[in-house]
Amino acid sequence: MNQAVARLEKYDGIDPVVWSEIYETEPQGLKDQQWFTNQVVRFAVDPELWAPHGFLSTLQAVEGQMDRVRGVKNGPRTIDLDLILFGDEVLEGSDYLTVPHPRAKDRAFVLHPLAEIEPELVFPDGTTIADALKKIDYRIEGKKIYQD
Ligand code: ADP
Ligand code: MG
Repeated sequence: MNQAVARLEKYDGIDPVVWSEIYETEPQGLKDQQWFTNQVVRFAVDPELWAPHGFLSTLQAVEGQMDRVRGVKNGPRTIDLDLILFGDEVLEGSDYLTVPHPRAKDRAFVLHPLAEIEPELVFPDGTTIADALKKIDYRIEGKKIYQD
């Protein structure tokens, strides 16, 4: 994950500003595999240079640089870079990119680290991060996140 952030920082107009801790997270769906590690990072992006689609294609380029191979859905992978939010933008109706990330609000491994770096966050639909966390069932032990 550090390598992915370092690679993104090399692009003009993309600067990491806040990092969450790195969490160990229970696999969802496919249980018979190693735990994942997850982190949420806030980047400052230059709006003259970057729009959401271009930013996602850069995330995918970095996945490619890191030998990401797309295998089984929800299965093991070297790296997965997802775009959770892009300011207040809402993009729907395309398979290529949905913002906010369509499954973010179901996933403790997204919401908990996001709340760590952005405790006052309000999603574009008005949901607060605190309310989103209350709606899901999960458990934290130290840096471990359990969610079925
Ligand atoms: P996943 O992240 O669900 O484990 P992938 O990384 O293979 O799986 O992504 C599947 C597809 O999701 C990609 O082809 C990408 O275009 C699409 N996608 C739609 N919205 C987003 C988003 N907000 N962030 C990342 N990928 C997205
Ligand atoms: Mg992804």
